[in-house]
Amino acid sequence: MVYSANDNRYEDMTYNYCGNSGLQLPAISLGMWHNFGGVDKFETSRAMVRRAFDLGITHFDLANNYGPPAGSAEETLGRILKKDLAPYRDQLIISTKAGYGMWSGPYGDGGSKKYLTASLDQSLERLGLDYVDIFYHHRPDPNTPLEETMKALDRIVKQGKALYVGISNYNAQQTKRASEILRDLGTPFIINQVSYSMFDRWTEESLIDTLGAEGLGGIIFSPLAQGLLTDKYIDEIPEDSRAASSSQFLNETDITDEKLTKIKELHQLAQSRGQSLAQMALAWVLRHDSIASVLVGASKVSQIEENIQTVDRLDFTTDELNKIDEILS
Ligand code: NDP
Repeated sequence: MVYSANDNRYEDMTYNYCGNSGLQLPAISLGMWHNFGGVDKFETSRAMVRRAFDLGITHFDLANNYGPPAGSAEETLGRILKKDLAPYRDQLIISTKAGYGMWSGPYGDGGSKKYLTASLDQSLERLGLDYVDIFYHHRPDPNTPLEETMKALDRIVKQGKALYVGISNYNAQQTKRASEILRDLGTPFIINQVSYSMFDRWTEESLIDTLGAEGLGGIIFSPLAQGLLTDKYIDEIPEDSRAASSSQFLNETDITDEKLTKIKELHQLAQSRGQSLAQMALAWVLRHDSIASVLVGASKVSQIEENIQTVDRLDFTTDELNKIDEILS
């Protein structure tokens, strides 16, 4: 059956301006790192993207290497666009990145103009698009002058292959320097994509303040610590979870007794707020003005449905924030 988007999709989602730009992002965006590859069931991936869009999620995040195999998550979204979402292209924010190893040889990794230019061309081909909305340099490359990488991003915008550009995994100092270069070039640089969660608070040291000072928006990856900050691991490690899978990024040894104790206490606090732990963990990340959106991963439609309800309760009392710090300390 031909897909027709839910008419009420914009009613319940919150949209935040990304830094000082005119681009608004949904408070909850969908990340396609896991569960959208060639090894995954296409119909499950398709159902998640359609449901997300129906619930007001306009932003879908990719990278050249997402899969597995690398590149296949972009192909999956390309197929979904073709089948369902192409008529809605002007209502979608699609991002991709280059910066990690993608193909062999010296031009398939890093931050050179050669790599970024070729990689985005390949991504556009896989997606079946003329442009992406945001193109990121995926991680700092100490072996390439930052000026070269930033000029490559600037050129990509001038060629019309991306509307905005961003950086990912850059610390405060690197962000400031990138911002200076891109401001001089007049490039629409609007965003830094970084990890942040109750279990990973490095951004609080200075990055979050730097984003505000530079007029940039933050978008957060792994806000649920890959699923740890949900109710799923409280009693057991479910067979269909990321920790039980062959993922090299989360495994059973990450679920320590110390973490479980904290997870249980956080779960209780979330319940007292009338939320699930996942919802409280996402709201906690979104409490900073400079954080425009959280990128949530999902393996099931029901997880997306639970996670978007975060926007119903975003505020925290000082007592609740102190209690969270106490549990995490
Ligand atoms: P999360 O911390 O949101 O973890 C997502 C996982 O948590 C899901 O796949 C699912 O795992 C589980 N989950 C989600 N919601 C629920 C729920 N309500 N109840 C129970 N379990 C739930 O984020 P990711 O680590 O997946 O990262 C999100 C996105 O960020 C990526 O897709 C990618 O776009 C981006 N990213 C960017 C990086 C970068 O370097 N720029 C690095 C990493 C990610 P399960 O399979 O167990 O069900």
